[in-house]
Order: sequence, then structure tokens, then C-alpha cells
Amino acid sequence: MSTLKTKIEFLKGVGPQKGELLKTELGIFTIGDLLMHFPFRYVDKTKFHLTKDIGPGMDGESVQLKGVLRRMEMKGDGRAKRLVARFRDETGMVELVWFKGAHWIQKSLQTGVEYIVFGRINDFKGRISIPHPEIEPVADSNLKNALTLAPVYPSTDKLNNKGLDAKGQRKLMAVIMNKITAEDIPEILPKYILDKMNFPSRYTSIRDIHFPKNQIALRAATNRLKFEELFFLQLRLLQIRKNRHQALLGYQFPKIGENFLGFFNEKIPFELTGAQKRVIKEIRRDLGAGKQMNRLLQGDVGSGKTMVGLMSMLMALDNGFQSCLMAPTEILAQQHYLSISEYVEGMGIRVGFLSGSVKGKKRKALLELLALGEIDFLIGTHAVLEDPVVFKNLGLAITDEQHRFGVKQRSRLWKKSKPYPPHVLVMTATPIPRTLAMTLYGDLDVSVIDELPPGRKEVKTIHKYESGRLRVFGFMRDEIEKGRQVYVVYPLIEESETLDLQNLEEGHISISREFPMPKYQISILHGRMKPADKDFEMQRFVKGETQIMIATTVIEVGVNVPNATVMVIENTERFGLSQLHQLRGRVGRGGDQSYCILMTGNKLSNDSKQRIQTMCATNNGFEIADADLKLRGPGNIEGTQQSGTLNFRIADLVQDGAILKTAREIANRILDDDPKFEKPQHNPIQKYMEHYGRKVKGWSRIG
Ligand code: ADP
Ligand code: MG
Repeated sequence: MSTLKTKIEFLKGVGPQKGELLKTELGIFTIGDLLMHFPFRYVDKTKFHLTKDIGPGMDGESVQLKGVLRRMEMKGDGRAKRLVARFRDETGMVELVWFKGAHWIQKSLQTGVEYIVFGRINDFKGRISIPHPEIEPVADSNLKNALTLAPVYPSTDKLNNKGLDAKGQRKLMAVIMNKITAEDIPEILPKYILDKMNFPSRYTSIRDIHFPKNQIALRAATNRLKFEELFFLQLRLLQIRKNRHQALLGYQFPKIGENFLGFFNEKIPFELTGAQKRVIKEIRRDLGAGKQMNRLLQGDVGSGKTMVGLMSMLMALDNGFQSCLMAPTEILAQQHYLSISEYVEGMGIRVGFLSGSVKGKKRKALLELLALGEIDFLIGTHAVLEDPVVFKNLGLAITDEQHRFGVKQRSRLWKKSKPYPPHVLVMTATPIPRTLAMTLYGDLDVSVIDELPPGRKEVKTIHKYESGRLRVFGFMRDEIEKGRQVYVVYPLIEESETLDLQNLEEGHISISREFPMPKYQISILHGRMKPADKDFEMQRFVKGETQIMIATTVIEVGVNVPNATVMVIENTERFGLSQLHQLRGRVGRGGDQSYCILMTGNKLSNDSKQRIQTMCATNNGFEIADADLKLRGPGNIEGTQQSGTLNFRIADLVQDGAILKTAREIANRILDDDPKFEKPQHNPIQKYMEHYGRKVKGWSRIG
């Protein structure tokens, strides 16, 4: 049996107890697993410091020293009991201190002997010491080894207590490296890739990631291992996508007919943007191919996704199929229903609306028409997914604002149509950072609308403290004077819902005082209201009967009131970046200059400051998503939490965008050229994918 497959407890220096810990704490079962447990940082031990250079102001800095242990003594009592040793080199002296295990340490060290010491300086009110240093007799240490970049491994308290701290793990790693040779670690990348990218072999990279000779070797090893990790993931995701394209038959919509053309030639109220045209073509190609479409449509707020959805529905209709369009909230579904009904008015297209609030006879009648095929477009909330809702022939299902739908809900769609599942188009305005999209949705087809309709003015974003409130009121008054409308939004976070509502109500009172009736009319909207009341308030605002809309984040998604030009966000520090961007997208929808005012308290955390700066600096959803990724890390971006594909060993989506892009391109080329990896140069890939491929599951059936 090869060394790498040997159980971890049989490695010299491990044994059953430590072996068990490595399994439970780190998921390490074999020697090979441990070898793939990479350092997360390195400490620079490439030189020795001199004690004379150690002084105040160096608190927390790491130093490596060579010298002789002079006097050791126990000091203090109880908790303050500690071992203090004087450590001297040619230039001076520094104190080493141990609180834990002091007796044991004292026994294991000898005065008069030369040691190498490594640790962090502690400056306690001018008294300099090095607490709990690593210490090793010069005689034992291979001096050449001492002068390295020393790897530091992820560890846990339990591991540290059993001697498997950074130093302990480093020792084990050295034992393994001494045992194995290049033959134990075969190459898994084709030679031509290594040559082209100037990568070291797999063996060299793994050796150097643990014990780099210098920064250059470390960088080469890191790059190669990052690439390897991203490359095989991309290869697998793209493979899943290819297989899906080949396997999943779907309805074929070959015709572009009277509805699509009639609408396009006579009814469409504006010229489509280039991006809209491109995406409609992509969808048209999908729908004509006889394969089931599973497409994610990303487009910033206001980029005109609804029109793309509508035109896709017209294609389905021309081929004799029904479509549905679902939105996450009643308000948004209503808006879609109204705007789409208006767009297609006079074309004889039958548009139906379904939500939880459609009940009784009305509901029964609608469901009958739907089952008979007398409804062409069904627009609604996720009530559309309920079992009693039966279509005659559902050919296309569109969901708006995808991240609000659970995976389960979406899978119910698939049951609504036989023999094939409907084509699925998922529209989202939550920009996903490109690197994340490539990984999370790497097996999906993605379309991007990266262009806003012409004539839009960028929303101007301004940060204001509480002290500037009167001026903000003044500004609102000026805009209302010009005939515009204003949103004032309060955060709503579940844990403190009562408190937040109180905020909202207090805000309502102060705004009502500032903007008195009858001159001003105010709408108020929050999640605790009945759907009918919400709708009533929303409609008053949509129709321009009220000038100010005070709301919680229920208005976040999709509401379209082009005459609204000011968005005031209260307690901005409590919103995440993507939410702020969504909210800002409610204004700037007409031709007038719009404004977003970010109100905050005086005390701001660094994170809040950065979020606010980002908002003021850019209107681009993708830039904001990238900033969000940097601030929060990939695991915390909405919708990514459950995804195992983001647990990387060494790659980092924040930093490694360029490597990812290259890896994906190369993977794509190989799949086009040699999909089964049969060519001799792809032999290593074929071998590796045999077991790796089974571990990665695609997102695939999002529909
Ligand atoms: P979102 O992508 O956020 O869902 P919408 O579909 O709601 O955006 O469109 C936002 C606004 O832009 C709507 O008022 C819509 O009528 C308008 N619009 C969409 N496409 C165009 C276009 N090509 N030219 C001008 N206005 C457009
Ligand atoms: Mg929309």
C-alpha cells in the first residue's frame, strides 16, 4: 500500500489518541490527507535578530534569536506563578516567560546551553519579554532548517493541548516529507499546461507549500496549487453543464411568430438596449434547441429584465405554450401583472393573476381557465406553485429575484409540465461577484444585462449624519416642490422587529410634522400590514397621490415608480451592501436626476464606513458585489451559505479571480477538444477525475 493511503495513526509521532483528534478536528484520516492540510501563513525565520535591537514599540512582532540560557527562576504565586529565564546573545539580554506548564518547561531546559528561540515580543508597560516562545537546542536543530519560512497550520485548542500546535504539525509534516518521494505524488495536470503556466510539478509544489526554501518557491507552489484546485472544480462544473445540455430534452420552440413580431414591430415602447437584444437572442437559441433551458439572467436594478421576460413569454406563446412569471412579493407580482397587461393590451393575449389573496370563485374560475389553456400568461406569487394549480401546457417558467425562492419551491415547478419540464429563466438583480458566479453557478447558463437603458442619470449618493437632518428635510421639500416623490426607508431586522417598527413610527411622526397635511400626503408601508392595505398604500404612491413613502425594506425588491427621485435610507449602518444597492435602485428610474441619501449615526465601525464609501463611489452592481465579497468573504454572500463548492483548500475567491478565469478557460478548451480526456496528454486528468468527479455536485436543477 502506498504511503499516502496509510492511516494517520500509523505515522510516526501520531498514535491512536492524536490520530483520533486529527480525524475529528480536521477530518484527516490518512497520511495523504495530512499532506493536503496546507499552512495558512508563514513566519519569517530566514534570519536571526539580535537582542540589542529588541525594544519598546515592537509589541507583537515575531523574532528569532540565537543565544544561551542563563538563569531560570520561578516567580510569583497562584495565577501569577511563572518561569522566567534570562536569554543572552553577544549583544544583550531578553527575558523569556512561561505561565503554563512552567515546571515541566523548567525541567526540560538547561542553563548554559545554546538555544534557538522564536516568539512574539510582549511590551507590558515598557517591560519587554517573550512569552511562551518556541525553543530548541542549537545542537538538535539543523541550523539550515531553522532559517526558513516556517509554516503555520490551522489548528484548534484541542489539537494545541495535545501537542499538535503549529510546531507539532510542522514536525509531522517533516516526517512525511522525509518518507515520500516524487513517485508518491504523481502529476495530475498535463505537461503542456505546466509548461505554459510555468508551474512546478505537483510533488515540488506540495513540498514547497510546506517547506518553502524562499519566497519565490513559495509563490510558485501556491500558484500551482490554487490553479489545480480551481481548474478541477471548473472542469467538473463545465462537464456537468455539458452533460445536462446533452441529456435534458425539452420543448422545442422553433417559431418566431405573430405575437413576438407583432409586439416587437408595433407595440414595444422603446428601443431595446444592446444587452437586452443579446440576451433575448441567447434565450431564443436555447428555446429553439430542443433542450431544456436553465438560464440565470443577471441584470442590475433597472436594466430592463422584465422586458426580456415578456419577450421570452411571447416566444412560448407563438409556439402554443403557456408561461408563468413569479415574483417573491404580492406587490411586485401585481406590478408585473399591471405592466405586462399594459404592454400587450389589444393583442388578444390572456393574462391571469394568482396570489394568496385571489380566493373563492375568482380563484376557481382562474384555475379552470388555466387548465383549459385559456390563460396564456399566468403572473403571480409562489402561489402559482401550489398543487391545485394545473396548466394545460406550461412551456416556460420565469422567476424574478431568484434568491428569494427556496430550492424546494423551485423544484415544484418541474412537476407542472409533462413530458418535459418547462424551460426555466431565473432573473436576479442581486449582482453576484463574477468569481462567485463562475463557481456557484458554474454549471448553469448565465446571461448578463450589463447596460442600462439610455438617458438614465446616475443616482447621486450622499452620506449624512443625524446633525444634517434638517437640511435633508429641506432637500426633500425642494424635490417634492418640483413634483417628485421621496422614499424614506427603515431597516427591519427580525430579532428587533418591535424596535424597528418603533423607529419607523417615530420617523413617521417627525416627518408628518415636517410635511403637514393637507399640503403633503404620506404613505406608510411595513411587513405587518395586511396585503390589501399594503397594496392600497403602494397604489396611492404609484399614482402620485402621496409624495412620501415611509417604508421598511418590504419595498426593496422591484418596485417601479419612475417619478420617485429621492431615496433616504435611515440607519444605513445596519444594511448590507447588496441591500443598500437594491434600495438605491428604486430611484433613478425616470429621466430626472435622482439622489440617495445615506443617514447614519455619528459612530461608525470600519466596515460601515467602507460600505458607505463604496456606495458613494459607484453605482455599478458588480463593483458593489465585489466589494461585498471582500468585506464579508465568500461564505456570507446571500445564497451561498449551503454551498460546499466554496470550501477551498487554498484558493481564495477574493484574491484569485485571475487564476480562476484562466482555469475556467483552459477547462473549457479541453472539454471542447477532448471531452472524455482520451488524448494521451490528458491521461493524468482522466485518472484524477475518476474519483474527484464524484465529489462535486452541480447546482444544475435550479428550476
Ligand atoms: P429590472 O431589471 O430592475 O427588473 P425593469 O424591467 O423594471 O428593470 O425596467 C426598469 C424600467 O426601465 C422600466 O420602467 C422599463 O419600462 C424601462 N426600460 C426597460 N428597458 C428599456 C429600454 N430598452 N429603454 C428604455 N427604457 C427601458
Ligand atoms: Mg425587476
